[in-house]
Amino acid sequence: MDINYKLVDEKLDFEEKVSIIADEVLYIIKELHQENRQQISSKLIAEKMVWRASLKKLFSDHDRNKPEDSIDSAYLKEISDAILDKLKDLLPSSMTDKLNEIKDSVHSSPDVHNSREWLESPINIIKRHIHSLTSRNKELEEFMVVAMQNLSETEVQLSSELSSQKDKFREDRCFTDQITRNMNTMSVVINVSRNISSIKSVLMNKIVSINSRITEKRAQDMKRLKETENSLEEMGNRMFEMKQEAEVLRRRSQAIEVEAVTDALTGLYNRRGYDDKISETIAHVNRYNIKASFILCDIDYFKKINDNYGHNVGDLALKKMTTLLKERLRINDFIARYGGEEFAIILPHTDLEGATIAGKGLREFIDNAEFSYKGTQIPLTISIGVSEFRKGDDQNSLFDRADHALYLAKKSGRNTVMTEDDVNNSELVLDDADQITEFI
Ligand code: GH3
Ligand code: MG
Ligand code: MG
Repeated sequence: MDINYKLVDEKLDFEEKVSIIADEVLYIIKELHQENRQQISSKLIAEKMVWRASLKKLFSDHDRNKPEDSIDSAYLKEISDAILDKLKDLLPSSMTDKLNEIKDSVHSSPDVHNSREWLESPINIIKRHIHSLTSRNKELEEFMVVAMQNLSETEVQLSSELSSQKDKFREDRCFTDQITRNMNTMSVVINVSRNISSIKSVLMNKIVSINSRITEKRAQDMKRLKETENSLEEMGNRMFEMKQEAEVLRRRSQAIEVEAVTDALTGLYNRRGYDDKISETIAHVNRYNIKASFILCDIDYFKKINDNYGHNVGDLALKKMTTLLKERLRINDFIARYGGEEFAIILPHTDLEGATIAGKGLREFIDNAEFSYKGTQIPLTISIGVSEFRKGDDQNSLFDRADHALYLAKKSGRNTVMTEDDVNNSELVLDDADQITEFI
């Protein structure tokens, strides 16, 4: 029930009414305390409790001396004065005039018993004060929200500043220490200050100081960034030059490598290239159990070409032979100039039978090709020996079987193809290696 109704209730005696007022005052003081801890201390509340007890005691003394309905106005005014004086202690000095006004009006009122004014006024005035405190608290709250927003924006800037450059760790740490100190000062000020304007001004100063420190820091960072960019650019240029140099070196070494396995006259693989390839093929055949064959071919009577037309024509014959071999053989076939006028060919995924067909086709193709010098037709034929890669073969065993077949081909009149099987089926007897080298 509203206090004003309680106070006009005829059934309540005076002491009850004063007790209600005292309770109300106490309640208001508690409310004040909750609204603004800085303004109303617990000491004051304790004081109020004592005051309420004294008030009660006062009335009980009065009851003992006087009948209930004979409470005089003077006594009531005395109590009123006591309450108003106590309120003066509680309320800010700006309220003192208002309280004095109420006090005067209570004193001038002829019938205090029926006057609700003296009861209502202090309550209203306290309520107004609470309201003003609340709105001031609101103002403070809003200010704090804005300040905190500013601070959190600052924090975001700060963290992005921090993450942008890891290498300036020490400088950043000093910077954040400063910011933290500023923040701490602010929180201390908020906790201890009783005055909103002082909180406001300290906070604003701190925010300005933080922001100016950030601006300073940003300028420093920009300078640092520029320097880093410059050195990065320099490094980039150097890297580019180094990359170019490395590329030149890589190409040069690649060219050297190619040169090392290439025959200068024909452009085919040379003996070294052949050695590499044959080792690789033997390993491949042994591991994957695949077929592959080998052809050794030698130009017939090449010495005669040199002798009759000169060494240069002999060289031309070797080049012509290269063109014809490339033209007739498959792209996957490997061709090398093994030495002099002798060519070694590796045919992957081809058995002896297939390689023999290939060899015969090649022989025929070259036989039918025309080679001339200064209008003179020069016969150009080859003899061929064929062998197939066998498990357990090494470079020599494979080569030897093809070489024996080539020997047989030469023996058989040249411009012909013989296989390792032909050697096995022939009466050919190889007394010593010289017999073979005679032909190559
Ligand atoms: P056969 O039919 O028995 O193979 O007789 P051939 O004359 O072809 O064989 P021989 O081994 O008697 O002669 C090979 C000649 O090849 C000897 C050598 O001077 C010549 N020769 C080796 N390499 C080159 C070269 O690069 N250019 C030229 N023009 N001739 C070379
Ligand atoms: Mg020859
Ligand atoms: Mg030869």
